[in-house]
Amino acid sequence: MNNLIGAESHLPSETLDGVRISVLLNAGLNLESESAMRDMADGIGLYRTEIPFMLHDSFPSEQEQASRYRDVLNNFSGRPVCMRTLDIGGDKPLPYFPIVEDNPFLGWRGIRLTLDHPELFLAQLKAMLRASEGLDNLAIMLPMISSLAEVQAARRLLDQAWLEVSEELGRRGSSVRYPMLGAMIEVPSILYILPEMSPYVDFWSVGSNDLTQYLLAVDRNNSRVAGLYDPFHPAVIRVLQQVVQSAEQHGKSVSICGELAGDPLGVLILMAMGYRNFSMNLNNIARIKYVVRRIRVEDLPPLLEMGLQQSDSAAMKELFAGYLVRQG
Ligand code: PEP
Ligand code: MG
Repeated sequence: MNNLIGAESHLPSETLDGVRISVLLNAGLNLESESAMRDMADGIGLYRTEIPFMLHDSFPSEQEQASRYRDVLNNFSGRPVCMRTLDIGGDKPLPYFPIVEDNPFLGWRGIRLTLDHPELFLAQLKAMLRASEGLDNLAIMLPMISSLAEVQAARRLLDQAWLEVSEELGRRGSSVRYPMLGAMIEVPSILYILPEMSPYVDFWSVGSNDLTQYLLAVDRNNSRVAGLYDPFHPAVIRVLQQVVQSAEQHGKSVSICGELAGDPLGVLILMAMGYRNFSMNLNNIARIKYVVRRIRVEDLPPLLEMGLQQSDSAAMKELFAGYLVRQG
């Protein structure tokens, strides 16, 4: 079975009824093995920039960052690479930047921290832009967005970074493309302001790990409440459905980059809702492609309808698991 799964990993991720699914990579940990996946993935849907920061003894310089980002963009040239700005805090501390808080997951995390330190944010944005000189595959994504003001502030800093880098490069006759800018949907507050936010972003990506954690008020890393952490909870499922509908209404592309995107049942349920872009860890790519190539998109919405009526995550999973077994 495993050999069978691996044997199809270089084939296109297309369903039996001809719907093309974008299978993207969550990257940041190991550039070598991630680059080896280049031909299997349609691009990088989430590059976690905090991981290389965590492997340093101090903040990497703009130059050091640019050189790493350049390798990533080059390795995936011709395919989209979505780099997320620094998402430290919460469960991802930097040894050289200690943060002491009672509730780190509700504290100084992601965009909150970088907007309070524009010098760090600007250096990172400029490094990304510099790295993308002559390439056209960079997109930038903002983590932990909870308000419109954060997106607007980040957009202004991106404008500034782009102007500064463009001016420098312009002096030697080169240029850099203004990148697509997206926001992560992982804090529930923004579910209610997607229409207002839509003019300020080019795309959205759902972080189902944090979205589940914050919707259900369950610490994603606390084993005592692990039984309550359920990305298939009817509330999470309904929210995910609203997000894809809202993105469609506003003409924005939406992807999903939490663990749910690497789970075969999760992917089927998300496809039933209309999601077509999935970003996952490299060890899930082969099996998700295998699953996608055995199903029909047109079969899925009735199963979702049935599952939603039962308001029970076990029943929802059973419906889709039964379908998968029937499809072989
Ligand atoms: C998420 O929250 O789903 C996500 C992809 O981001 P991270 O796991 O890095 O917090
Ligand atoms: Mg997250």
